[in-house]
Amino acid sequence: MPKSSPRKLTVISSHQITPNMKRITLGGSALEGFPPNQESAYIKLQVPDERQDSLVTRTYTVRNYRENLNELDVDFFLHGDGGPASAWASRAQAGDEIAVAGPGGKKLLDFSADWFVLAGDMTALPAISVNIEQLPDHARGYAVIEILHESDIQAFQTPDAFEIHWVINPTPEKENTLLLDKVMQLPWLEGNPSIWAACEFSSMRALRRYFKQDKNVPKKSVYVSSYWKCGLSEEQHKKIKRTDAETAG
Ligand SMILES: Cc1cc2nc3c(=O)[nH]c(=O)nc-3n(C[C@H](O)[C@H](O)[C@H](O)COP(=O)(O)OP(=O)(O)OC[C@H]3O[C@@H](n4cnc5c(N)ncnc54)[C@H](O)[C@@H]3O)c2cc1C
Repeated sequence: MPKSSPRKLTVISSHQITPNMKRITLGGSALEGFPPNQESAYIKLQVPDERQDSLVTRTYTVRNYRENLNELDVDFFLHGDGGPASAWASRAQAGDEIAVAGPGGKKLLDFSADWFVLAGDMTALPAISVNIEQLPDHARGYAVIEILHESDIQAFQTPDAFEIHWVINPTPEKENTLLLDKVMQLPWLEGNPSIWAACEFSSMRALRRYFKQDKNVPKKSVYVSSYWKCGLSEEQHKKIKRTDAETAG
């Protein structure tokens, strides 16, 4: 991410999209000049960590940016594990302030591919949604999305030959193969795929193995990223993610 000072933004409004996903709309004069067309790019939020009486940095996704209204939407999965970002989002109210740096680079599907796979959990749902919204009309393929509860299903308009499969997992900290199991059940289509996946670390590794080793998808056609790791804070997760990237090549 290019170094620029974080913008001090204000919560304009917030609402539950589904029981475990809260949308927070940020705005304020410091948002002016935010670059357009950065939906799916990551941003870094500074949230209070009340246990340490300090600010910590957490990574989120630009879900929508309405330049004309000077509004930025961020969708927070309320994971209930006492993390500072999830806790901040669950309490956030209009008028609250938060420092936001970015956006950093965005990684979308290669829309010129023959077919597509999107896979991820609720932390990846904002980026998956952006990818789905940008699919060409003739797109073929699947999105496989793991959610906590059936009531977390979101409505999407999709091309006719593109399917969404929802995988319900109420205990992702115990059960981390459901996403992979569903992806593996789906027929592998003809032609060159473009793959985008993001989820918990162990699940990410299993998906990466499946796409790159079992299915031999070339590296340039696969983006697989770990968005969090069970039992670790973002700081701890970042360290093992770095080591994993070095060894995975
Ligand atoms: C590029 C990128 C984009 C992301 N975009 C989004 C986004 O748009 N929306 C979103 O909700 N998340 C997103 N995430 C994931 C988010 O950054 C992590 O879930 C982060 O750890 C949450 O911070 P926290 O302060 O709530 O918890 P932390 O302090 O990091 O962790 C505290 C505890 O909560 C657990 N925990 C953290 N995340 C989860 C989870 N998802 N489910 C269950 N337990 C968890 C940890 O394992 C730890 O035990 C993104 C991550 C990356 C790398």
